[in-house]
Amino acid sequence: MTFQKTNLDHKNPSIINHNQENHNKINLNRENLGLINLNPLQRGGIIPLETRAILNQWLDGYSVCDFCRGCLDKIQRPPIETFVHKTLPKFLGCDEVRITNGAREGKFMIMHTICEKGDWILIDRNAHYSTFVAAERAGLNIEKTPKTSAPEHKINETDFASKIKEMETAGRKPKLALLTYPDGNYGNLPDAKKVAEICRNAEVPLIINGAYAVGRMPINLKEIGADFIVGSGHKSMAASGPIGVVGATKKWAGQVFAKSKNYPLKGVEELGCTSRGLSIISLMASFPYVIKRVANWDKEVENARYFSDEITKIRGIKAIGEQPHNHDLMAFETLVFYEISTTHKRRGFFLYDELKARGITGIKPGLTKNFKLSTFGLTRKEIDKIIGAFKEIAKIK
Ligand SMILES: *Cc1c(COP(=O)(O)O)cnc(C)c1O
Repeated sequence: MTFQKTNLDHKNPSIINHNQENHNKINLNRENLGLINLNPLQRGGIIPLETRAILNQWLDGYSVCDFCRGCLDKIQRPPIETFVHKTLPKFLGCDEVRITNGAREGKFMIMHTICEKGDWILIDRNAHYSTFVAAERAGLNIEKTPKTSAPEHKINETDFASKIKEMETAGRKPKLALLTYPDGNYGNLPDAKKVAEICRNAEVPLIINGAYAVGRMPINLKEIGADFIVGSGHKSMAASGPIGVVGATKKWAGQVFAKSKNYPLKGVEELGCTSRGLSIISLMASFPYVIKRVANWDKEVENARYFSDEITKIRGIKAIGEQPHNHDLMAFETLVFYEISTTHKRRGFFLYDELKARGITGIKPGLTKNFKLSTFGLTRKEIDKIIGAFKEIAKIK
């Protein structure tokens, strides 16, 4: 095939698309920028102005490596060393913390270090898919605790005790347990302290998956009494990402953060170096803002409950998950919108369109029967605007 322009190019659009010049022009404008975004995945990753102001200096690849002497968490200019070895351990209640490229990478590095291929692990039934994928990559077998039926979908803490016993009897005692805190479907917050106590008594190390907690709400590994914690920078710490944090107690830090035999500055599970540029700068730049918002968590829960109370006044909308709710991630069953979709000319897409027309986005296009959303970081005025929009849309015939 030739890239030379011929008359044919202009007649056949498929050939024009293969023209080198056109091919290089990719439209990267973000369609929904500036709208109120209800996507739980994105609300905690919105970058505050003070962070935006610094990012331009760090866009280049490997930008944080100007003064690196071989180890990311030892870099002093910018002050990554203090951040990783003092600020974050204090914030998370850990003895040691390392930077990862996301919560999943943290989970994988722990599983890969602590377990052998073929080992069993125990996780809660509301666990995120990335927990399953991390375990699969590490060659592990998975057992799950039960959960209560709809609409609550609650994890009973004591099921960790009975499951561990059951697995032990079957000759497959879990090498590791994981609690999703909160889960990403319903925003349920089990009693992590209770699960940690059960796991401690059974001598099963426990990971707290705090992808939706670290950077949103107060959370402290020592207080919980578990062994590991993972967090997600792009999900809940106002960072551009991809970036995450992994924390461990003294007991495990040496193993999980062990250095390479051949390269004594390089962590093996970190593959030598993790976040090497813009993403760690964004995490550090947002940190003072994150500290402030974590202190404001009660207000966030109050806002979420207010939203839930108002929205469930609409006939045909029901809250799913624990009630009263304790997190900004909320799920709803919304039969009223489903009913409208059955006769609407835009079918299931009407809801997305109607919300967008009112300056709101973040509910997946096509969904009407049930969906999750988050009010994290929104003002009361914005929340009232969203409630008003849902009330209006519910009246569409
Ligand atoms: C989003 C999410 C993850 C994945 O986080 P990454 O930082 O993108 O790896 C893991 N667990 C839960 C519960 C999540 O909601």
